[in-house]
Amino acid sequence: MKKGYFGKYGGRFVPETLIPALRELETSFRRSISDQNFKDELLSLQSTYIGRPTPLYFASRLTDRLGGARIYLKREDLGHTGAHKINNALGQALLAKAIGKKRVIAETGAGQHGVATATGAAMVGLKADIYMGSEDVKRQALNVFRMKLLGARVIEVNKGSQTLKDAINEALRDWTTNVLDTHYVLGTVFGPHPFPTIVKYFQSVIGREARKQIMKAEGRLPDYLIACVGGGSNAMGLFNAFLNDKVKMIGVEAGGEGIRSGKHAARFAGGSVGVFQGCKSYLLQDRDGNVLTTHSVSAGLDYASVGPEHAFLHDSERVTYTYATDSAALKAFELLSMTEGIIPALESAHAIAEAARIAPKLSKKNVIIVNLSGRGDKDVQHVAKIKGIEL
Ligand SMILES: *Cc1c(COP(=O)(O)O)cnc(C)c1O
Repeated sequence: MKKGYFGKYGGRFVPETLIPALRELETSFRRSISDQNFKDELLSLQSTYIGRPTPLYFASRLTDRLGGARIYLKREDLGHTGAHKINNALGQALLAKAIGKKRVIAETGAGQHGVATATGAAMVGLKADIYMGSEDVKRQALNVFRMKLLGARVIEVNKGSQTLKDAINEALRDWTTNVLDTHYVLGTVFGPHPFPTIVKYFQSVIGREARKQIMKAEGRLPDYLIACVGGGSNAMGLFNAFLNDKVKMIGVEAGGEGIRSGKHAARFAGGSVGVFQGCKSYLLQDRDGNVLTTHSVSAGLDYASVGPEHAFLHDSERVTYTYATDSAALKAFELLSMTEGIIPALESAHAIAEAARIAPKLSKKNVIIVNLSGRGDKDVQHVAKIKGIEL
């Protein structure tokens, strides 16, 4: 495969001025991950700061309720800050420090990646500037305050739709100017090479642990892995360790109000190949190549494109991609809360919805691992509002 590509997907579709920064990052990333000190520090902080390994939990009541395959949950919700995003944010903060940068920047939509980056930066002792669209700043006041508490500066972006994609553009612009002392912490397996590779590296700990844990619990590999797919980092993190095994994998996108409604973020069901924000992948676009607006009940899955490696895994049919609608995700949100006492993030509820759909059709001997990418505390207010409940 061509370097920086996954089949025909990925690449480096950026202005010429960014190429040296990406090259430098690629070199220093390679150097860092072959440096034993760097690896030791990462391993130690994954354990003492994030709380890894996260448990692999057998969801016996959910399994009984669905009456089919045995369902295990990989509990990324139990990591520090309550989701898998910290795996990448901490890894990249360490990387920034190792390569001598003084400052990190990041983009954020709902604020989750901004909070994770601000956390990693605080822990490592770097300055953090977080780009966020003004629309999102208004909608996510709590996360804005969290980032400030963590010592980060939140920079409002008043351009375009004033949301995530505009924040990414501004972060890239900042990086072009300040690359000498600044590292850009991209939040998912997306963007120009080497970002998809870097983020996959730091998230792959999920699958490595899950593989060992399921071997211990069941004495064999699982039949299915299920994960939700926004940019695709928690899914790549789980899938990567099993790609060479006979394990079926399902990525679940946001079906929103259904594909026909146009209000969704199901890039594989409703998109086509295009170039967006630094790489080639599947993209929700109109016939003229204008990027479409997306919708999902969960902010973390609400993006017009998807990581390029997923595009490759889709075309090669190694991974199956499907979607769960808002209403299916909301049902799964309540199902897991009531059967297991675990309130999942709305993003993760999409993966639970797919597990709930297929488990009853499978034998009781089958084993499914669902990546529980995050906890649902952040979504409780939103769900109450949808249900018409005043808090
Ligand atoms: C951000 C987020 C996602 C989506 O991002 P991926 O890169 O696709 O993993 C999923 N779950 C949670 C809890 C998130 O915060």
